[in-house]
Order: sequence, then structure tokens, then C-alpha cells
Amino acid sequence: MPRAHAEFRFYEELNDFLAAELRQRDFPVEVDRARSVKDAIESVGVPHTEVDLILVDGNSVDFAHLLRGGERVAVYPMFERLDISPVVRLRPLPLRDPRFVADVHLGKLARHLRMAGFDVLWDNAWDDDEIVRTASLQRRTILTRDKGMLRRREVERGYFVRATESGAQLAEVLRALQLETRVAPFTRCRVCNSLLEDVPKAAVLDRLPEKVRSFYDRFKRCPGCERVYWEGTHYERMKKMVSDTISAQRDLCAGALGRVPPIQ
Ligand SMILES: [Zn+2]
Repeated sequence: MPRAHAEFRFYEELNDFLAAELRQRDFPVEVDRARSVKDAIESVGVPHTEVDLILVDGNSVDFAHLLRGGERVAVYPMFERLDISPVVRLRPLPLRDPRFVADVHLGKLARHLRMAGFDVLWDNAWDDDEIVRTASLQRRTILTRDKGMLRRREVERGYFVRATESGAQLAEVLRALQLETRVAPFTRCRVCNSLLEDVPKAAVLDRLPEKVRSFYDRFKRCPGCERVYWEGTHYERMKKMVSDTISAQRDLCAGALGRVPPIQ
């Protein structure tokens, strides 16, 4: 007896996960009379965390929807910027409380994101299990360069970081997760992730380098690791990265979709 198939089409950057011969076209996926749409999607290499909308014969469905053969399935990426407001998205969007846990390879990105004010856990001693467990216990989004981690069943939110250089990664994450308007520099410790506290200049004077003492008047202190912060070079560099990202985004929004770089 012939096996049942559903006809799939993946849109935008989801194509990056597909084998070359399956990109940008319709193709059949075996469903054998009853297979969840989530399972079918992952069988061709697309992590479910990258998917935001699934239409089966034009109707939006959730991951558990069973395919029995003969359906047409359209799969759209997370944070797709097309206006799809009348249909059901698979998870709330954008992130209302963006909090992250970054994988072991993304230490620099974690520090950049903290500089931009975001809550990012990162520890180079954490293995994949620890990262996945922390993410699900604390409802955090996993940032990773490891597609395999995002295919795990327990992972609810995750983002596969395409760029390899940390500045480009920051720009990519801000853009892809639509975080540009939530940037709050000079609020969080880049080393230990604690929220910074205001501190009078007089209280930290003896800890400041000569140049800093004469050039800056606003200071913050980290209650976690006691580091003192001022709006110096790190801060300026980060502010420029963020404003470059926002202006690049503005150019793209003139009609095109915000594309992320292809997977290396
Ligand atoms: Zn700290």
C-alpha cells in the first residue's frame, strides 16, 4: 500500500535549514496516515523553535495537529514580519519579557546583550542539559549555535544564531527578536548579569583611573561583583552597534523582510 504524504512548503529563513534540493519549493513529506505536524517539520531538519505559524490547507494549526496525507502545509518562521495578525501564532510574540540563556560558544554575545540591558545567563561550565533545564525552569529563550539543541522536545523558545562574529550576532539577535526598542544600556553588569545601582562619584573616587575621574560624573555599581561602570568606550561602542542595527532595520522595513544571514 502506498504511503501517505503531505505537501510542504517552508518560507523565508526556514529554508536555511533544509537540504538544498528542498529549498524554496513544494515537496512531499511522508506522514503514514497519522503524524504530528511538528514531527514532520523536524524530520526535514527545521527546529520547531524556529517556526511561528503553520497553515494546513489554509487554516492555522498547532504543533500537535495530525497529518493523515493529502494536506498542503505552509510553514512560516518565528518573528516573521509579514502581517499575519488574523491567524493564530504558536506562541506569544514578540517576547514580552525577553530573558535568555546563551550556549557555551556565545559568551561574547551574552556580554554584549547585558550591556544592552538584557537578562542573559551564561556559564562556560554549563552543558546542553543544564542550558535546556535552566531555560525551561525560568522560561528563558535559548540562544545557540547548535541546531541540535533546539530540536529537543523540552525546548519551548530558542533562537539559532547565524552570525559568527559577536557584534554581528548582537545586531542579528536584536533585529530577529525585535528587541531594538527595549535596549536599556548602562543598566546591567556585563560580567555577572546583575542590575546596576546608582552610586555617587565620591563613593567610588578612589577606585577610578585618573582619566575617568576627570571625564565622567555618572557612575553605577554592580551589587553582584562590585564592578564600577561609567559611560565610557564599551558603552559608546555598544550604543553605536545598536543604532547601526536600528537604522539598517529602518532601511529594510521599506517593504522588504528583515533577513538574517544564511547559516554558515
Ligand atoms: Zn557584576
